[in-house]
Amino acid sequence: MRNPGYDCAAVLQTWSNWSGRVKCEPWEIARPASERAIAETVREAATAGRTARVAGSGHSFTALVATSGTLLSLDDWHGIEEIDATHDRATVRAGSKIASLGDPLRVHGMGLANQGDVDVQAIAGALSTGTHGTGATLGSLSSQIRALRIVTADGEVVRCDAEHDPDLLEAARVSLGALGVLSAATLQLVPAYRLHERVWKTGIEECLAELASRVARHRHFEFFWYPHRDYAEMKALDPTDAAPDPLESHKGERIDWSDRIFPSVRDLRFNEMEYSVPAASGPACFTAVRTRMQEKHPDVVWPVEYRTVAADPGWLSPMHGRDTVAISIHQDAKLPCDDFFADVEPIFREHGGRPHWGKIHNLRARELAPLYPMWERFLDVRKRLDPRGVFLNDHLRELFGL
Ligand SMILES: Cc1cc2nc3c(=O)[nH]c(=O)nc-3n(C[C@H](O)[C@H](O)[C@H](O)COP(=O)(O)OP(=O)(O)OC[C@H]3O[C@@H](n4cnc5c(N)ncnc54)[C@H](O)[C@@H]3O)c2cc1C
Repeated sequence: MRNPGYDCAAVLQTWSNWSGRVKCEPWEIARPASERAIAETVREAATAGRTARVAGSGHSFTALVATSGTLLSLDDWHGIEEIDATHDRATVRAGSKIASLGDPLRVHGMGLANQGDVDVQAIAGALSTGTHGTGATLGSLSSQIRALRIVTADGEVVRCDAEHDPDLLEAARVSLGALGVLSAATLQLVPAYRLHERVWKTGIEECLAELASRVARHRHFEFFWYPHRDYAEMKALDPTDAAPDPLESHKGERIDWSDRIFPSVRDLRFNEMEYSVPAASGPACFTAVRTRMQEKHPDVVWPVEYRTVAADPGWLSPMHGRDTVAISIHQDAKLPCDDFFADVEPIFREHGGRPHWGKIHNLRARELAPLYPMWERFLDVRKRLDPRGVFLNDHLRELFGL
């Protein structure tokens, strides 16, 4: 073992994802604390004929991270490297947890334009799978990338932005760790803002009747449908200049800085499948999922989540080139989920869905390639950067058909 201290996993030299579904026994778990150390680690692994994968916070449900080779954790490579106040941009180290960025960015009067449901992910892990929040005008986190530094398979550091190697930029926005180790990302931010959160419950029919107008009216809107009671919990977030009012929180309303409003606490472990369907197909797809669950899976009590995301530039983003509705189904991590998920998946596919890379799905290269117009271009970039497949694992080989 090269470097003890990788949480408890290093003791047994095993690694597990958050839900416990994916486990692996890496040859080593390395914890480089500089870009040079990242490069050395990769070079050593490649020279020794080992493959290398990077773990963020292990919050993906699929076997993206699993490796029997070198596993890199960038937990010691974090923080803000550079602030560009003129353009509201910051360059952040890849291992930075999203939660750690809120305060320092706010000190500089900036914040992320949007965030997902939790903020415990490493920024590079979130970017690499197309992690998104909700908001019809807002793309995934990857859409905010303006430049990247990547450690390639031979231990070189390459930079890309819109002027320098734009193909690499578009391929690397969402790249599943298949191109190299992201070392730093320059992100487009927005001026720091407060959000007014409102959460309330309503019958599902009423929720669906109001859906289009709420999606259009609120900067962020989503709902969870609870199958057993057949009601929806709706959440709307809108910018406000009002000051935080802690007394309001018990009424299902609160006001605070955006980075404090976005994240939820998810204590109960679950597994999840999510597909992104064209925005116009969202309501019909949700209705079909609801019917399938009511008819065939009445035992499932975990809710279905419905969110909107704007079209993304990243070649492998599930939101690439089209405004999207993202629909997620969940099951308790202690209960079997495969049959349930496999039974709902065809509905997502009938509606033109693309799976979330970090969430459970059963698609492989043959099914994935036709969903992504830039698929072959991505594979070309991957081959250019990593011809020997240092960054491939079994899961990626299946996804890419290699
Ligand atoms: C409770 C929970 C809530 C979630 N909420 C949302 C949500 O709201 N929206 C959403 O879209 N998704 C959500 N997800 C999914 C999650 O955001 C993604 O799976 C995300 O990729 C996890 O980030 P991570 O840091 O844990 O990365 P990991 O799962 O550890 O890794 C993900 C991928 O990134 C790669 N990677 C990590 N770091 C680097 C690096 N430095 N260089 C190159 N590749 C790297 C890994 O190799 C892997 O391929 C949620 C998951 C959970 C468990």
